[in-house]
Amino acid sequence: MMPKTYKLPAFSGKKLQPPVCKKGKILRTENFSQKAAGLKPFVTMDILERAQELERKGRSIIHLAVGEPDFATPTPIKKAAAEALQKDLTHYTHSLGTYGLRQTIADYYLKRYRVRIVPEQILVTSGTSPALMLACAALLNPGDRVIVSNPGYACYGNFITYCDGAPQYIKVYEDNGFQFEPQALKPQLTPQTRAILINSPANPTGNLLEVEQMRELAELGPMILSDEIYHGLVYKGEAHSILEFTDNAFVFNGFSKLYAMTGWRLGYLIAPLRYMRTLQTLQQNFMISASHFGQEAAITALTSQEVAAELENMKLIYNERRRFMLRRVREIGLQVATEPTGAFYIFANAKEFTADSYAFSFEILEKAGVGVTPGIDFGSNGEGYLRFSYANSLENIAEGMKRLEIFFKSR
Ligand code: PMP
Repeated sequence: MMPKTYKLPAFSGKKLQPPVCKKGKILRTENFSQKAAGLKPFVTMDILERAQELERKGRSIIHLAVGEPDFATPTPIKKAAAEALQKDLTHYTHSLGTYGLRQTIADYYLKRYRVRIVPEQILVTSGTSPALMLACAALLNPGDRVIVSNPGYACYGNFITYCDGAPQYIKVYEDNGFQFEPQALKPQLTPQTRAILINSPANPTGNLLEVEQMRELAELGPMILSDEIYHGLVYKGEAHSILEFTDNAFVFNGFSKLYAMTGWRLGYLIAPLRYMRTLQTLQQNFMISASHFGQEAAITALTSQEVAAELENMKLIYNERRRFMLRRVREIGLQVATEPTGAFYIFANAKEFTADSYAFSFEILEKAGVGVTPGIDFGSNGEGYLRFSYANSLENIAEGMKRLEIFFKSR
């Protein structure tokens, strides 16, 4: 029997609509669980999917929306995976991950941050996203609050809400690089505050938290959930692990960004020992384990000198793109108050041009043929901003900026 196919309605560029089935009948929301129906779509993906639709119709689109390295995974990592497949490492592993990879991660954190963790504190997951999901599932009871920055990574609130917690959004502002001000945050803490979620370097702003800020946040009391997925992609200054300041923390990290391994689906979390049995139970039930050959290749990612050299080279290239894009974004009339020095994003203030970044991004896509992400995807305080990703070639970025310049001049 042919599988039933569903398609999304054409984008009005105005507001999100629920999926409709093939015959055009709108599925009633009560067909879904309330939790699933309550989730916000990840708009970056909506933009990407519409861009792909336009490409299929023959339009040339420059992709500056999606947060994914354009580089191929470094060759030694691919070779290690191929060898692992040859050796038939194709079965389930220990639910926490292979001991070899967990030991390697522990060694890496010791070498890089001078923090001592043991393999028993590590859970290897199929991407950082499942690690965030499992952590929320392990930590949150109904009504527990997690402090999240607004703007912040679009999916955080959904993970928290889905696990019955309540995101407590705290606005952060461009003047100080969208950083949490620990002193301003202090009065917002309540007995229900279970954790503070930080992300440095950050998506969407590309900014880093300062050391002092990290230290003060760690001293506020609630546990810190630290998403360190963009570590290694830092062009000025240094990223610090929260574990340098406190043990009362969960760390989320993975191979997607730094190692250009998004499609491998490999990440991990580091947690205090007392949480590990519960996390393991969740993993055993919901995920079983991450892929075996992927884990084997990840050891090479963390230890190979050849890979390290390739990463350095990628970083130089990202940095060149960053500087170029920053200059061009400002030249076309958008404001960037604080220089972004990490990840691969520039979060630019476009309030002079729009108060509806969602419609504006679709308009840019349709008229200029450039995919950018609307700031509203990252929270109400991101409205009026646009996120540009420089995970694309210098040549494409230059072309994208040229198209945007013409578009902005016409307004
Ligand atoms: N955290 C942040 C801040 C991200 O930007 C992303 C990817 N967009 C993730 C987590 C998830 O990464 P993955 O699941 O690919 O490891």
